[in-house]
Order: sequence, then structure tokens, then C-alpha cells
Amino acid sequence: MNEKTDIFLSVVIPVYQSASSLEELIRRLGEVLKGISRQVELILVDDGSSDGSWDLIQKAAVSNDWIRGFRLSRNFGQHHAIAAGLDASGGEWTVVMDADLQDLPEEIPHLLSKAQYGYEVVWGRRVGRTDSWHKKLLSALFHRIFRYMSGFPQDPAVGNFGIYHKKVVQELVQMRESIRYFPAMVQWIGFRQGTFDVEHGQSSAGKSNYVFQSKVRLAVNALLAFSDKPLRFTVKLGFVIASIGFIFALLTLVRYFSGSIVVPGYASLIVSIWILSGIILMTVGMVGLYVGKIFEGVKKRPLYVVAQQT
Ligand code: UDP
Ligand code: MG
Repeated sequence: MNEKTDIFLSVVIPVYQSASSLEELIRRLGEVLKGISRQVELILVDDGSSDGSWDLIQKAAVSNDWIRGFRLSRNFGQHHAIAAGLDASGGEWTVVMDADLQDLPEEIPHLLSKAQYGYEVVWGRRVGRTDSWHKKLLSALFHRIFRYMSGFPQDPAVGNFGIYHKKVVQELVQMRESIRYFPAMVQWIGFRQGTFDVEHGQSSAGKSNYVFQSKVRLAVNALLAFSDKPLRFTVKLGFVIASIGFIFALLTLVRYFSGSIVVPGYASLIVSIWILSGIILMTVGMVGLYVGKIFEGVKKRPLYVVAQQT
């Protein structure tokens, strides 16, 4: 195997239930990488697949010395699998891409040549994204909210696909936070970041390996991890409501002393109880969400567990 320090380009791919695309992916990557350098490595991280992906990875690793495989002990999630791959990668440049051939291996040389013009990060911007309309809609919505809440510019056409200089990867592997959202972590690191328009392939699997709920969980986690705006918002909301309550109390006192209160106000009481209880519950829940995230963070568990490696 190559000495880690000699590697020019590492390609890191999280693999989950991707047996149907792996062989083609590896073949096409092999052809593309051959044209770039001999000092390349492909790191395939099997994120607990149950469809034979690991057998294919092992087979590929045995017959190609530039391919390495890691099998996580269970499904940890795409962003944790990427972390495992980055920990193992040692290239001057590292590409991160999906396993389902939606990110085209043939775009790697373009990303690399743009990066060599003076960027530490070049994102693949998926023009003509091939995902379904509802996925694009939800993605656009998420990116809008994320941009507003975190202050990081977010382009829905940009995913994880991109090329990252060693300087960036070295910082990434220091970031051991348990709630991970790869694109925002890279943005946080900074340096010169550019984009390059890439073609977006049809998913070979035809559909995403994510169930809807885990995408939602990923989105909520990303928002909580990169923004404290919800907390600030609840404080502002509490302030506004308390101010209204104060004015209302003054009014009530005036009306009481002027003798204009004749019937005790059941309606206003019950309405304020419902509204305020709702707001209090929501606020407590919001704080609870963050406490839960802190709880996850302070446990400082490893980000993933490797069961096997080739
Ligand atoms: N993936 C993973 N773990 C998971 C889900 C997905 O490692 O639990 C990988 C998958 O193999 C692929 C990438 O993450 O390389 C993106 O997954 P997919 O194409 O299913 O999702 P999409 O982002 O296209 O909705
Ligand atoms: Mg996909």
C-alpha cells in the first residue's frame, strides 16, 4: 500500500446499501483517477449496509492496492461515515462524494483543476439536479431556513460533493462534535471556497437510501447544531408577551378602580391560560432540545466504531 504521506488524491465515499452501483462506481473512478496521478487512494466506508456492499468493497480492496475499505459496526449515518473516511485519508487533496453515481467520477478532474487555481475548497454545484420535485422543494426550504438560522450561505445545489485541501481536512478531523453536518462544518473552517458546476447523474438506486424521518432528523440536528436563533427567538417572544401582559394588567387595574369591571372575564382568562401554556411548553421543549444535544455532546463518545477494515 502507498505510504500515507505520498498520496496526492484521496476519494472518500460513504457507502450504504449501494451494492447495485459499487462495481460501476469503482470502475469509473479507476479510469478517472488513473489520468490524474498514480498516488491516489479510494476509501470506501460501509455504513452498516446489509445488501452485500461490504463483500464488494472487500473484493475490490483485495485486487486493487489503491482501494481501502472500512466497515462500521452499524449504521452511523452518512456524515459519521464521512468522518471515518476523512480520518483515514491522507491525500494532498480529498474528494468526498456519494456512492450512488449521482456525483459523477468524471467531474473530479474539473474540481481539481479549479482548486489548483487557488482554492482550498471547491464544491460541486449540481446544475440540473435530477432529484424528484418534492426532494428539491424540501431541500430548498431547508437551505433557506438553514441560511437564515446559521448565517452560513447555503446553496441548495451544493451537497457534500467537492474537493478539499489537506489543510481543510486536517481541521475537519479535529472537529469531533457528535452532531455533524458536513457542508456547514467545511464552511465554518473557511479558507478560499469556490464552486464548480457539475452534472448531476440519475441515482442508480433510483431512490434515496434515506427514509424521510432520518432526513428530517438530520435537518433538525443541523439547525440545532449550527444555530441558537430558536432560543433567542423564544426569549424575544417571552419579552413581547410579558410586555403585552404588563399593559393588560395596567388596563385591568384602571378598570377595576374606576368600577367598570362588572362581570369576571372567563373568556380572557381561559384564552390567556391556553395561549401562555402553549408558549411555555414550546419554550421548555426548545430548551430541552438543546439540553439533549449538550447531553449527546458531553458524552464524548467516538463518532463511529470500525468493525472490520481491509
Ligand atoms: N449514506 C450513508 N449512510 C446512511 C445513508 C446514506 O453512508 O445512513 C450514504 C450513501 O451510501 C450515499 C450518500 O450517503 O453515498 C447519500 O445517500 P443517498 O444517495 O441515499 O441520499 P441522497 O442524499 O441522494 O438523498
Ligand atoms: Mg443519492
